[in-house]
Amino acid sequence: MNKRIIEMVTKEKKKGMFENVIQQFNTAADQINLNPNIRKILSISNNELIIRFPVKMDNGDVEIFTGYRVQHNNALGPYKGGLRYHPTVDIDAAKALAMWMTWKTSLAGLPYGGAKGGIQIDPSKYSQAELERITRRFTYALGENIGPEHDIPAPDVNTNQQTMAWIADTYMSTKAPSERSKNQHVVTGKPVGSGGLEGRDRATGYGVFLNIKFWAEKNNLNLSGKKFIVQGFGNVGYWAAYFLEKEGAHLVGVQDAYATISNEEGIDVEDLLNYSKSNDGMIKGYTKASTLLQDQFFEISADICIPAALGNQITDENADKIKAYLIAEGANGPTNYEGEQMLLARGVQIIPDVLCNSGGVIASYFEWLQNRNGELWLLDEVLEKLEKKLRTVFENVWDTSQERNISMRNAAFSIAIERIERAYIQRGIFP
Ligand code: GLU
Repeated sequence: MNKRIIEMVTKEKKKGMFENVIQQFNTAADQINLNPNIRKILSISNNELIIRFPVKMDNGDVEIFTGYRVQHNNALGPYKGGLRYHPTVDIDAAKALAMWMTWKTSLAGLPYGGAKGGIQIDPSKYSQAELERITRRFTYALGENIGPEHDIPAPDVNTNQQTMAWIADTYMSTKAPSERSKNQHVVTGKPVGSGGLEGRDRATGYGVFLNIKFWAEKNNLNLSGKKFIVQGFGNVGYWAAYFLEKEGAHLVGVQDAYATISNEEGIDVEDLLNYSKSNDGMIKGYTKASTLLQDQFFEISADICIPAALGNQITDENADKIKAYLIAEGANGPTNYEGEQMLLARGVQIIPDVLCNSGGVIASYFEWLQNRNGELWLLDEVLEKLEKKLRTVFENVWDTSQERNISMRNAAFSIAIERIERAYIQRGIFP
C-alpha cells in the first residue's frame, strides 16, 4: 500500500467512524428527547452482511475479497446508499456510513432508509478487467440482499458510473428475460444511456456549492473573490470547485491521496482537472502551484474549507489550525466529534455532511423515479429540481438551528430523527 494511503487509513481508523456518528446521534437524540425505545432501534443496524468471494485474476490466480453491506434502517423506505472500494472499508466504517445515510435520506424527505457497503480493496492495484469481475462477482454474491424496491446501491469513493453499469447488468442478468428491464433501478448513478440521469455525475458537488451559496446568502456574503480549499479532487471535490469558481471564488489549495498543493493567486480548476487526467487522476507534480507537506493542508489561508475525501480528517489534532470560517462537508464524517466542538467554540460554522452532500442521493432518487416511470429527464430540469429541493432542506436546517440555538449538524440530525420517530410511533412495533 502507498505510504500516503496508509496514513489516511490510520487517521480514519484512529477513532472509529461508528463512535463518531453515535456521538452525533446521541447529542441530537438528547436534544429532541427521543423516545427511549426508538433510540434503541436506531442505535443499531437492521442487517450487517460480510461476504467473502473468490475472483480469478488476470494471471490466473484466485484472490478472495471481502465485501460489506450494512442496512441500517428502512422505516421510511428501501435501503439506499453507496458502495465504496477502499482499504478503509470494514464493518465499523460500513455501519457508520449506513447510519449517516439514514439521517441523510430522512432529512431530505426522501422515501428511503439508509445503507452502505463496499469492498476492502485498493482499486488502483487491479486492472479494469479484474475490477469488472470483482464487481460482478460481488453483485452476484449480494444476490437478493439488494433490489430496486429493497436496497439500492450507488457510487461512492472509488466507484463510478461504470461500476454501477456492471452491477445493474449483472443483477438484471439473474432475472427472467421479461423481468429484466423492471430491475434497472437496482442501482443509481448509472451512465446516461443505460438508465442513468443527466447531471447525476455533478449532483453531489453542485449540491455542496448550492449549500455554500445558501449559507452565504443567510450571512450576507458574496462568494465572488472568496478563497476555498478542497480535500479530495474526485467527483465531489472537482464539481464543487467547478461551480464555486464559476461564481467567482478562487481555489487556493487542493489535497489528494498523494499530494498537497497551494497557490494563493488561485488554481484554475479545469487546468488542474486536465493535468490530473493526464497523470493517472493525481494532482502530484502540478507545476502551477507549490507543494506543501500533508499536514499543512488545513492551515492554508482560506474562507471556505471543503473536505471531500474520507472520514475523520478534521479532528482535535488539527481543528485549531483551520483558518476558514466555513466548513462544507462534501465527504461523509470528515469532522470528528471533538474537532467539531473546538471549531464551534471558535465560531467556525459547519454545513454538515448529511445536508451538504445530499445532492447526490437526491439526484439518485430522481434517477430511480425516472427508471420506475419510464421517463427521461433533461439536464436543466434535473438541476432546477435539485436546487429547489436542496433550498427547502437547507432552509429547514437553518431555521431549526436558529430557533433552537443549536449547530446545523444537531438541527439536521434532529429533523431526520424526528421524522423516523414519528413513523415508528404511527405504526407501532410488530407484533
Ligand atoms: N454515496 C453517496 C452518498 O454518500 C450517494 C448515495 C446514493 O446516491 O444512494 O450520499
